[in-house]
Amino acid sequence: MKLSIAQIASASNGSAIGNPDYIVEHLIIDSRSLFKAENTMFCALHTDAADGHRYIYNMYSQGVRAFLVDNMVCDASNFPDAAFVVVKSVEQAIYAIALQARAALDHVKFIAITGSVGKTVIKEQLFQALYGKVRLQRSPRSWNSRLGVALSITELQPGIDYAIIEVGIDRVGDMARLANLVRPTYGIFMPITDEHFSGFDSIEQKTAEKALLFANCSHVISVGSAQLHANALHSPTTQVDTNLQAVEKMAQLIGVTPNSDTFIPSNRIDVREGVNDCVVLFDSFTNDYRSLISALDFMRRRCTPTRSNTVILSNIFGADSATVINLLYRFGINRVITIGSDSYSDIPSTISLQHFVSVEQFIASVDTNQFSSESILIFGRGLQPIKDILAVPRHDSIMEVNLDALIHNFNYYRSLLQSTTGVIAMVKASAYGIGAVEVAKTLQAQGATMLAVAVIEEGIELRRGGISMPIVVLNPVTGNYKALFNNNLEPSVFSMRELATLVNAAQSCGIDSFNAHIKLDTGMHRVGFTEAELPQLITYLKSSAHIRVASIFSHLATADCPDMNDYTELQLTTFHRMSSAIIEALPYPVKRHILNTAGIMRYPEYQYDMVRLGIGLYGVSPLDTMPGDLRPVATLRSTIISIKHWPAGTTIGYARRGKLTRPSVIATIPIGYADGINRHLGRGAASFVVRGIECPTVGNICMDQCMIDITDVPAAAIGDPVEIYGPQMPVQRLAATLDTIPYELLTAVSPRIHRIYFRE
Ligand SMILES: *Cc1c(COP(=O)(O)O)cnc(C)c1O
Repeated sequence: MKLSIAQIASASNGSAIGNPDYIVEHLIIDSRSLFKAENTMFCALHTDAADGHRYIYNMYSQGVRAFLVDNMVCDASNFPDAAFVVVKSVEQAIYAIALQARAALDHVKFIAITGSVGKTVIKEQLFQALYGKVRLQRSPRSWNSRLGVALSITELQPGIDYAIIEVGIDRVGDMARLANLVRPTYGIFMPITDEHFSGFDSIEQKTAEKALLFANCSHVISVGSAQLHANALHSPTTQVDTNLQAVEKMAQLIGVTPNSDTFIPSNRIDVREGVNDCVVLFDSFTNDYRSLISALDFMRRRCTPTRSNTVILSNIFGADSATVINLLYRFGINRVITIGSDSYSDIPSTISLQHFVSVEQFIASVDTNQFSSESILIFGRGLQPIKDILAVPRHDSIMEVNLDALIHNFNYYRSLLQSTTGVIAMVKASAYGIGAVEVAKTLQAQGATMLAVAVIEEGIELRRGGISMPIVVLNPVTGNYKALFNNNLEPSVFSMRELATLVNAAQSCGIDSFNAHIKLDTGMHRVGFTEAELPQLITYLKSSAHIRVASIFSHLATADCPDMNDYTELQLTTFHRMSSAIIEALPYPVKRHILNTAGIMRYPEYQYDMVRLGIGLYGVSPLDTMPGDLRPVATLRSTIISIKHWPAGTTIGYARRGKLTRPSVIATIPIGYADGINRHLGRGAASFVVRGIECPTVGNICMDQCMIDITDVPAAAIGDPVEIYGPQMPVQRLAATLDTIPYELLTAVSPRIHRIYFRE
């Protein structure tokens, strides 16, 4: 889009301050996604998690000169040359601006996509199939929410003939407005599933609501869900079964022959351990410039001082090579390897450039020893063989970690809290088995206030991994206070004895005002100062300049036990009384926190200054009721490595404990109790999921392998993934089988299982 401040003010019913002629071409809502300050307007949204108005100064200092605000929190005269548009609601204003941008695109035909599943995949397939055949643009990655759709429209260029827009909704009443904004000519209706029912009463209601998008379409292609779609649609419709048929049909409607290499995009970035201490980020989603920006942004957020930054890319479309190099330069990339026909010149001296005409040439000429301690982003289609040689081989049994789900859960809990309440993310025990460094990087970028680990070594690992935010060590009992001070790890202190040792150590190292966190025992009866010790504690704290009380905290024993609310409430009031006594005695401000995940859900009125969020982050509810809003983060997965057919009566495994009662098909998977699969899950106690079907274990679990009965999955084949737990098998269910809690299962997965991180 291209709108002046005056046009934006009039479209959004707002008032303009500053230069009315300043031209805005891009809107951004996340300060971290700033790419080009010139002609970009920062929209200060209030979300559950944050208030965009806090970032105005930061954006201004990065060169942004246009702001959309609903609250003039700052004095415009402090922002020379900046223009502000003040509106009632920033979100509504973005919609209004998008309507205005849409009005200037009447010559463009819009193809809208909605449905429950596969929207992003078909959008990318269609884009690839039509690329170069017509002038088109599509909405970026999964910008399909109400705001995402509006922002996608503001990003469209006037020179196109077609726009592909993905639309998602999660409640009744949203679609009519979005349909009015997109005004599509063609529609693609993807299958409707009955999960995520929350905002709807029935699957029919959900289908009807989604179908509103297509009310004025000249033609709709319905993929899967034929009957459901047909009942809801009124436009001429073609029914197909697969994405590729839908793509072909759409090309036919437009009157072009599609490109033949339409593919299934993997729609995600993988983070893998690489050769020689490298980390490999692999994004084979598309080759377009916009996705390159978001991949580089993802890379930047997890950069480590000990690793340099390398990008390997194939031909990029959507920008010329000078623009691409400029982008790489701005993201601080040190080494660039290009594959393909694009040629690059005028390379800044900080970048070393190598060029290969093909993947084959790269593989023939490059030795993996030429890579060491680098973060390597491999970007673009067709580069899989390069990833295969630079990443450490994938194991048959892995834990897959969905970093988007982690962010989602983090924001879900933030939405239950006041915006000023800090969140301490519990990353002890390797982030509950999920991998502390990657989790910490993600949460550091997401704005967590502090991290908590159990022991000092865990804190040092995080510092080595490049984590700079505050870290508290919960059990610091250590002979090595120096390491604590050197790594700026803040101890929790739970006894007079500990306190005295810490203060002496600080004194002998010449350290003043070192942050410490005072742990009170209000009812867990594990560690912590008791009420009787308070007078002595206060006197000591007042007299020592070597440490500074950064916070006072306590831990709830029964927050997840609704039958023991009395006890929880007693702990909460004891905490209030004890912490208040300390705070009153100290001459400086001190923070307080007591809530764990269950506490956040049940006693938000006791959130004080911070909360300590653990299990909920990882997508597991500590309460029996699972809020539908959490997403599982970890998937433990193995692979079928052998399949055998046996007659009834055959016995399987050690001690002949698996006796077949019918002719059976038995698969072996390479994961056992040494990997953290408890032996009590054997002999049919648990089932693992193959092709969506639950397959019981057979016989005893072995050290490195176990067997499952796949008789009911006739299509199962060697190489099929087997989900131990994850989206199809909640870890809570396995925990219940073992009469334990999910915490124990997550932390029991052995280090020999590789953790693989990805972003959707
Ligand atoms: C582990 C831990 C938490 C987090 O508990 P969750 O139930 O996982 O939210 C909070 N506080 C302390 C002191 C802990 O040790």
